[in-house]
Amino acid sequence: MGKIIAVANQKGGVGKSTTVVSLAAYFGMRGKRVLCIDTDSQGNTTTGLGISKRELTCSTYDVLIGRARIQDAILETESENVSLVPAVSALAGAEIDLVELENRVSRLKAALMTCRDDYDFLLIDCPPSLSLVTLNGLVAADTVLIPMTAEFLAMEGLSQLAETIRLVKSRYNPNLTLEGILFTMYDARLNLAEQVVAEVKQYFPGEVFQTKIPRNVRLSEAPSHGKPVFSYDRGSKGAEAYELLGHEILGEPLVVEKRTRHFLFPRK
Ligand code: ADP
Ligand code: MG
Repeated sequence: MGKIIAVANQKGGVGKSTTVVSLAAYFGMRGKRVLCIDTDSQGNTTTGLGISKRELTCSTYDVLIGRARIQDAILETESENVSLVPAVSALAGAEIDLVELENRVSRLKAALMTCRDDYDFLLIDCPPSLSLVTLNGLVAADTVLIPMTAEFLAMEGLSQLAETIRLVKSRYNPNLTLEGILFTMYDARLNLAEQVVAEVKQYFPGEVFQTKIPRNVRLSEAPSHGKPVFSYDRGSKGAEAYELLGHEILGEPLVVEKRTRHFLFPRK
């Protein structure tokens, strides 16, 4: 039974989709079977995994409103062992449709229950809001991974999200836990960044990933090539950081050196 991780933050542009695509690719390279579920109508995880939204006939939207089975929406991607339930812009309307439907916060959960045995990891990319669609992600998940940037007022958004997680936990999903808080686009040279990390650690002791994802241009270029960073530039700092995050989630030592060399000079 695969582990379901919701990648959530109601703020946009904090690295949710980048984290989903990169972690999925890394886990896939390690032989894990991964399903990404794109629940953001912007579809950045979908494009980031090289799937063109124009040709899609079945998406997360159809699954949420009960028009399709999740099995009919799952696509293979070019990344080894990584499958995807894609998003299309129609998903923006799901909010309104869901209000009318029964079990409106547990529809994704119901769908994932029918396929989670086929995967080792199921990564849900949530939209940048605390909407019904995000609630569907949190209700379905075993854990929440929160990417965030170390900026002014970052704590405020985080508290709001933590409150939503508490609510979901008490009402719908008592076993929900934090996978961890991930600092992205991190610049250790900035005093402010260090202060924000210290503050978050104080409020969420033991929940901040040791791995920080640096700001890295290769990570921002990769989506326009429809490739995860590991296929685009596996020697980059961004790839290295996401590899370390992968190790951290898998409970492995945080060393990258040997495998990076292996990446650069693959064995025959
Ligand atoms: P979200 O899904 O939270 O809205 P994205 O993952 O789409 O955030 O990231 C927002 C933008 O920042 C994208 O253009 C992405 O390519 C870029 N980006 C994400 N992480 C990094 C990083 N560590 N370094 C540089 N650019 C990044
Ligand atoms: Mg996104």
